[in-house]
Amino acid sequence: MARGFNFPLPQQDSGSSQQPGGFRIPPRLLIALVLVGVAVAGYFMKTKSVENPYTGKVQRIAILDEKQEVALGMQSAPEMIRESGGLVRDERLKDFVENLGRKLVTASGAVEKGCQDDETVNAFALPGGQVFITTGLLKRLQYDDEVAGVLGHEIGHVLGRHSNAQMAKAEMFAQIGGAINVATSDGTGTGQVGAVVAHVMTTKFGREDELESDKIGVDLLIQAGFRPEAMTGVLQVLADLSKGQNGPDIMSTHPNPESRISEVDAYIKELRAAGQVPQPRYPPRPLWGSAAP
Ligand SMILES: [Zn+2]
Repeated sequence: MARGFNFPLPQQDSGSSQQPGGFRIPPRLLIALVLVGVAVAGYFMKTKSVENPYTGKVQRIAILDEKQEVALGMQSAPEMIRESGGLVRDERLKDFVENLGRKLVTASGAVEKGCQDDETVNAFALPGGQVFITTGLLKRLQYDDEVAGVLGHEIGHVLGRHSNAQMAKAEMFAQIGGAINVATSDGTGTGQVGAVVAHVMTTKFGREDELESDKIGVDLLIQAGFRPEAMTGVLQVLADLSKGQNGPDIMSTHPNPESRISEVDAYIKELRAAGQVPQPRYPPRPLWGSAAP
């Protein structure tokens, strides 16, 4: 567990670290990857149509107003963060994740981002643009661009407005609208909104949504200057973990990594064949030092 984390930031003596050159992630530290969806909001605010400007897909969504969608995510964030154990306090770790997120967001023409930690293996996105990765998942990845792959996939759920569409499917339109009205008027509806979002967050995205997010993640990796194969690397890690006795938490909302690997692999090959994958500006860098057990 106590592996040196060599993310590419200026090294400084962390004092309590037991491993020179790396640092320990305190077991109960929850990283807070705080991807704030300000740019995403601006992006979506340009349209009032239910045709998704990013994916081109016509969607039935619960919340038409992008400002409300962002407000919903912002209102529910504190509860989601609390349930996940809190935000990571290590500024260097936070900077590392946020820096990756910023690259992806810039590449997408949309957002901004952040990191959240607990020992569970998970990652999630809130409606409107906040993206989180737990330290539990982070510690199982090998390279920095795989972290970017996880963030890119979650940003894909945001741009695809998948939570929003899920809410529509659940026919909770009126309930959500009421909750948001309460929440945005005096703040007393935070718990209610949190419950609605928590329900959606525990609902499995469909296979189509997962694949769309995987592909958007691949696109963002390429546009941000990373190798697209980092996405298959992430899925392989999840596939390996799912073979254990207890699959990671992320499997409850992100099923079937094995079947997604072949689809993502085919997509990347297609892009390469079309000459759409330039040499990466950021070659993969190992996250962990040789001091790792
Ligand atoms: Zn997903």
